[in-house]
Amino acid sequence: MQWKGLGLPACWQLPGVRRALLSSASSSSAGGLNFSLTDDQHAMQELARKFAAEEIIPKARHHDITGEYPVDIIKKAWELGFVNTHVPQEYGGLGLGVFDSSLITEELAYGCSGIQTAIEANNLAQAPVVLAGNDAQQRKYLGRMTEEPLMCAYCVTEPGSGSDVAGTKTRAEKKGDRWVINGQKMWITNGGKANWYFVLARTDAKANAGRAFTGFIVDADSPGITVGRKEINMGQRASDTRGITFEDVEVPDENRLGEVGQGFKIAMGAFDITRPLVAAGAVGVARRCLDEASRYALERRTMGKAIIEHQAIQFMLADMGIGVESARMMVWRAAWLRDQGQRNTYYASIAKALASEVANKAAADAVQIFGGNGFNTEYPVEKLMRDAKIFMIYEGTSQIQRLIISRHIADAAVAAASS
Ligand SMILES: Cc1cc2nc3c(=O)[nH]c(=O)nc-3n(C[C@H](O)[C@H](O)[C@H](O)COP(=O)(O)OP(=O)(O)OC[C@H]3O[C@@H](n4cnc5c(N)ncnc54)[C@H](O)[C@@H]3O)c2cc1C
Repeated sequence: MQWKGLGLPACWQLPGVRRALLSSASSSSAGGLNFSLTDDQHAMQELARKFAAEEIIPKARHHDITGEYPVDIIKKAWELGFVNTHVPQEYGGLGLGVFDSSLITEELAYGCSGIQTAIEANNLAQAPVVLAGNDAQQRKYLGRMTEEPLMCAYCVTEPGSGSDVAGTKTRAEKKGDRWVINGQKMWITNGGKANWYFVLARTDAKANAGRAFTGFIVDADSPGITVGRKEINMGQRASDTRGITFEDVEVPDENRLGEVGQGFKIAMGAFDITRPLVAAGAVGVARRCLDEASRYALERRTMGKAIIEHQAIQFMLADMGIGVESARMMVWRAAWLRDQGQRNTYYASIAKALASEVANKAAADAVQIFGGNGFNTEYPVEKLMRDAKIFMIYEGTSQIQRLIISRHIADAAVAAASS
């Protein structure tokens, strides 16, 4: 019945939507340079845009003020196929590529990036399972996500180590055919809502990062897990961020992801899939800033004319346009490379750093264009400014992206010098 609420034509009802998304998933974006979307991609983008306009935007302010988790919105998004987009088709998912997913993510973030982050965190937790899970693990833990609207969470950051993943202290010790996990994770999105966690734990006290850690899938109802309070964050308040404590949590060896010692590679490898999507979310926020600010600038009059006629305002809007278009191109490039099976780490970091900074500048300029009204909660742009900041922090800060980018440049310079 909720389809009626969406006002969607009959052809958008679930089986049809899934068909469109599935055929889009299998359509190739290989070949020469081509910026045009397929008909299916257009349809998927339009559907996500309509969903954001009709289901997310009207309720975003409520979730921002109350911090209430957007259960109903996520359920509807799940029914449309906007959640868990990477789950392979053999496990009941749509198996969308990163490019197709980025089209959806930009639209959801346009509506509310807090709600988009709650949805996106599922992709983040699932990415290590997609990368390294065996058939049984994928069938059990990815398959269930397609049967009902469940959430999951990626547990890597700790109170003492975020950027410094090698400093992870949570440890897992092998006891018979089980592992016993002890430690504390922090800033975990969906932490209080998850059905299962991806957990990175130290399994070798002495080895270097490349061999010291192992990844595990941990059922959220395992004895010994304590979920902390919902953190009150600056923005994206619809999303659920918590600390999670693991005290003698037993995990069967069958829940170990990949080989012992491969956890760092698996946890970091997930970012090649998810950073382009974080960047797509930032593009959505920047585009929303541009739309809100240009609409306001048409209405607001000073010195006898609409403020959109003042060059100072025009140039801020022009910078937003430059940012949105260029950041989206980087998202598309990073996503497309990944879908072609090529290494995209460098481009994913560029996309993430660029788009997150574009979103922050666009949000600050949007507040500026709104003047005093921009500083007030009755207008939409102060939320955009609060929401935008986290894009420069989670999934690797802007400084960490620059570390990755500069290492890549240095490696290329060394290779060129020695060739
Ligand atoms: C709302 C929210 C949601 C999150 N969701 C998740 C999640 O789902 N799962 C998860 O595992 N984590 C999550 N995080 C954690 C997030 O990824 C980390 O906060 C982030 O990686 C930064 O780590 P930190 O907070 O420890 O900062 P620090 O690492 O302490 O960094 C502090 C400052 O120092 C800079 N810095 C650090 N090292 C260097 C360096 N080598 N060179 C230059 N500058 C450096 C940083 O850029 C930053 O400016 C979330 C965080 C927040 C706030």
